[in-house]
Amino acid sequence: MLSHSLPELSYPYDALEPHIDALTMEIHHSRHHQTYITNYLKLLEWTGLTEKYSPSELLAHLDEVDSEKKQGAINNLGGHINHSFFWSIITPHPLNRVLSTGNLSAALQETFGSFDEFRDQFTATALTIFGSGWAWLVKDKHGSLALRQTTGQNTPLSDGEKPIIGIDVWEHAYYLKHQNKRADYIAAFWNVVDWVQAEKNFSE
Ligand code: MN
Repeated sequence: MLSHSLPELSYPYDALEPHIDALTMEIHHSRHHQTYITNYLKLLEWTGLTEKYSPSELLAHLDEVDSEKKQGAINNLGGHINHSFFWSIITPHPLNRVLSTGNLSAALQETFGSFDEFRDQFTATALTIFGSGWAWLVKDKHGSLALRQTTGQNTPLSDGEKPIIGIDVWEHAYYLKHQNKRADYIAAFWNVVDWVQAEKNFSE
């Protein structure tokens, strides 16, 4: 269960080398992610809301936040929720594709025709986000798979959709290693996707 503090990673910062480098992981987790948490806790200080609600519950109760603080709270709370999800969907012990026996494999085939076609479409979705944002494979309100783009730190959870996998395409996620070459970073991402976790996200 996610709390209002930085989640510990289940692997060391260098565990995803060479696909995601240790320095990027360390700065991304300990500084960028921490800053989102620090920022919304500061914005919501004295409101009692962070004592009352978990991060995902809070997302659904941001109408209780003063209007001048609301957008900042959305941005930074989204940053916390999205990054916590991202760390959970990458692993140093990946399979290189979805579990062939699982429910997700069948759903990907039904929706996209094949795993390779899904991967191509997800890659295109991530490549074409203009500026900072995220690409997602989600389970929509009808239980179907769909690809989504979100900008800033918006999350599909706000639209009632469940993330299955997601990739952070803010430059801070790849600039140290790949500079401006987002395509190289997305190609590297496919080497660390945790398909066991993805299956759980889809089936649970
Ligand atoms: Mn990020």
